[in-house]
Amino acid sequence: MSTTLVTNIGTLVTNDPTQTPTQTQTPTPLGLIHNAAVLIDGPRIAWVGSATTAPPADTAHDARGRAAIPGFVDSHSHLVFAGDRTQEFNARMSGRAYSAGGIRTTVAATRAATDEALEANVTRYLREALRQGTTTFETKSGYGLTTHDEARALRIASRHTEEVTYLGAHIVSPDYADDPAAYVELVTGEMLDACAPHARWIDVFCEKGAFDGDQARAILTAGKAKGLHPRIHANQLSYGPGVQLAAELDAASADHCTHLTDADVDALANSDTVATLLPGAEFSTRAAWPDARRLLDAGATVALSTDCNPGSSFTSSMPFCIALAVRDMGMTPDEAIWSATAGGAQALRRTDIGRITPGARADLVLLDAPSHVHLAYRPGVPLVSEVWQRGVRTTGHAG
Ligand SMILES: [Zn+2]
Repeated sequence: MSTTLVTNIGTLVTNDPTQTPTQTQTPTPLGLIHNAAVLIDGPRIAWVGSATTAPPADTAHDARGRAAIPGFVDSHSHLVFAGDRTQEFNARMSGRAYSAGGIRTTVAATRAATDEALEANVTRYLREALRQGTTTFETKSGYGLTTHDEARALRIASRHTEEVTYLGAHIVSPDYADDPAAYVELVTGEMLDACAPHARWIDVFCEKGAFDGDQARAILTAGKAKGLHPRIHANQLSYGPGVQLAAELDAASADHCTHLTDADVDALANSDTVATLLPGAEFSTRAAWPDARRLLDAGATVALSTDCNPGSSFTSSMPFCIALAVRDMGMTPDEAIWSATAGGAQALRRTDIGRITPGARADLVLLDAPSHVHLAYRPGVPLVSEVWQRGVRTTGHAG
């Protein structure tokens, strides 16, 4: 395999806390290196350090002083869908409140779509995310709500990522409006059997208007018995049992975490469950922001993700989420960038992504900026200038 040295990197974010910018500075979680180089060998990183001590390589790529960060890890998205909810967004921005019910609109459109149309939609939003620096993403079913349509969504998703989540329990299917218990039986029975082979994770929307704590526990427990690991949509629109349940079941993440009691914060701080915050949802529903500062100060691990979906958060931009988290959720730029990379990796229980260290996957992003801080400092500006995924430069201009 051939080697490439990406060199002359102004500031490199490694997320390796043992790295320090100079001998005299104290280490930080971002593990910054100034005037850095990264040696890529095939799909992996082989060496990281100062450009002045870099080993030889088959080819060199000049970063021209730009900053580099690990590729973003978007650990929460809903990309297998059809249709559009512009009218609903317009109505919300005219004052109407958001509720879980809007999901039904997308369910109808998704069921009616062909496999090819769904596949094309996934590909389109993945390319869009990749151009903005996302090199790993998780995505879910949840707009089919029949055994056939949920399994179909997962099959399509699994052609694009290994981080696939079965979300048959997104809302109670409209076909079971009068008998939610029968729908839970379907989700934990026949539908689970058909979906489990195509997924790594199981998820449930634990919320008023969707599934209560007992239903959520039954669904996640059934998934675990089939080898799927839990993650939960928890405490988004109101206080509820979701976060406690996530900690109890060792879910990889509790996602949203907008309405938390002190006991919820303690549960997250004292478990391996990552609090995944999705500020695009609060932005697009004009809701109160989740309090990242409170979680971080308590010792919880925080991830940032887009929640990209056509209803409540139609953005695929991790830099946008970083800017929101810094401006409105009490995060420092360093914390937000860690959460969008290493935090996302932890929410997927992965150690080979979200960092630039020897052995990790060679996923890195060069920014048209001297520092990673510009991602929050210059919101809305397309600073992502090159994206390397598995050692291959997928976007950007010639060096
Ligand atoms: Zn979601």
